Amino acid sequence: MIRAGSGPKIITEKVFRQLASRANCLLYIYDPTAKRFNYLSDYAPVLLGTIFSRIEQDPAVLWDSILAEDREYICSELKLLGKKECLTADFRLHLPDQPVKWIHTKAFRLEEDPLLQGCIAGFAEDITQRKETELFLANTHAQKDVALQILGHDIRAPIGTISAASSLLERSVGTEDLKNLEPLFRIISDTCRNALNLINEVLESVYWDAQHTVKKKSRVDLVELVESQLYAYRLLHQDQKEFKLCASADHIFVVSDQVRLQLILENLLSNAFKFTKRNGTIIVGIQEQRQAVLVTVKDDGIGIPEGLKSKIFQKFTAARREGLQGEKPTGLGLHIVKTMVEQLSGRIWFESREGEGTTFFVELPKKG
Ligand code: ADP
Repeated sequence: MIRAGSGPKIITEKVFRQLASRANCLLYIYDPTAKRFNYLSDYAPVLLGTIFSRIEQDPAVLWDSILAEDREYICSELKLLGKKECLTADFRLHLPDQPVKWIHTKAFRLEEDPLLQGCIAGFAEDITQRKETELFLANTHAQKDVALQILGHDIRAPIGTISAASSLLERSVGTEDLKNLEPLFRIISDTCRNALNLINEVLESVYWDAQHTVKKKSRVDLVELVESQLYAYRLLHQDQKEFKLCASADHIFVVSDQVRLQLILENLLSNAFKFTKRNGTIIVGIQEQRQAVLVTVKDDGIGIPEGLKSKIFQKFTAARREGLQGEKPTGLGLHIVKTMVEQLSGRIWFESREGEGTTFFVELPKKG
C-alpha cells in the first residue's frame, strides 16, 4: 500500500501498476548486491526490444548494450549515487537490429524500505528524437555562425573597393572623358559580381547542407542541360576558351533533381573555366551506362597539386586558390557539389596532374 501525499487516500499496488503501464517510460528497481532487477514495468519490451527477456536473468546483457564510451561515465555517476540524492544521466544504447538509441534515466537509492534497502529505483525514457533535434539545431546554428563569419569578413573588402571606385567616379565625372572612366565602371561591376557570387555560395552551402531539403525529381535531358550551360559560356568567352560537348547519344535522360544537377554542372564548369589558361579547352562528356550516366568535366588547365588533392572537397577548404583571372575563392563550391551528388545517390571523384589538367567524374543513377 502506498499513501498518497498528505491526503487520506491509499494507492494500492494494482493502481501503481496501472499507472506504470500507462507511462511512456520504463520504471525499474535494481538490486546491485544480488545483481538483478526486482521490478521492470510493462514498458520494458518497448524500450529494450529483444534483450528484455534476457536481462531479468542476466542484467549484464543490458550493460553490454550501452556504448563503451558511455559506460565509464555511468560508472562514475553510479559511484556518486550514495552521496547525491539523485542520478541523472543520458547515454546511448545499441540493441540488436536497432539503430543507436539515446536514453535518459533518473535514479535514486531506496534507503527506507527494509526489504529493498540499497536498491536503485528510477525511470528511463527514449530521448533519441529530442537528441537528434538538438544536434540538428546545433549544426544549423554552427553553419549559420560560419556563414555569418565569412560574409562579415569577406564582404567588407568588396564594399570598400566599390565605395573607393564610386567616390573617384564622383570626383572625376565633370572633368574626365567618360571613356577614361571605363576601368572604374569595370572595377565596380566585377567587384559586385564577385561579392554576389560569394553571398550566393555561402547561402547555398547553408541551404544545401540541410539534410531535410526536399528533392524534386523530374525527367531531365542531361545533353540539353549541358548544351544550354555551354551556350552561355561560348557566348561570353568564345574569344578566350573552347567549350566542347561529347555525348554518347543526342538525348540522355536521368530522373533527378534539376536544380541540383544545374548547380553541380555549373560549379564544375566554372572551376574548369577559372583554372584554365587563355586558349584552353574544356570538354564535357556524357556517357550513358546501363544503370547510370557518367558526366565528365575535363580541362587542360593548371591542375591540382598533390598536396591539395585530399582537401578539395572540404568545406571552406584550405586548398582554395584564386582563379587565373584573380577570381576570389571561397573554397565552398566542391563541398556543395559533393553534398549534392551524394544527395542524388551519385558518386564524384577526379583525376588531375599539375600543369596538364583536371577531370571531374560524376556518376549519377538513371533513376535517382
Ligand atoms: P572555389 O569555389 O573557391 O573555387 P572549390 O571548392 O570549387 O572552391 O574548389 C576548391 C579548390 O580546388 C579550388 O580553389 C582549386 O584550388 C581546386 N580546383 C577545383 N577545381 C579545379 C580545376 N578544375 N582545376 C584546378 N584546380 C581546381
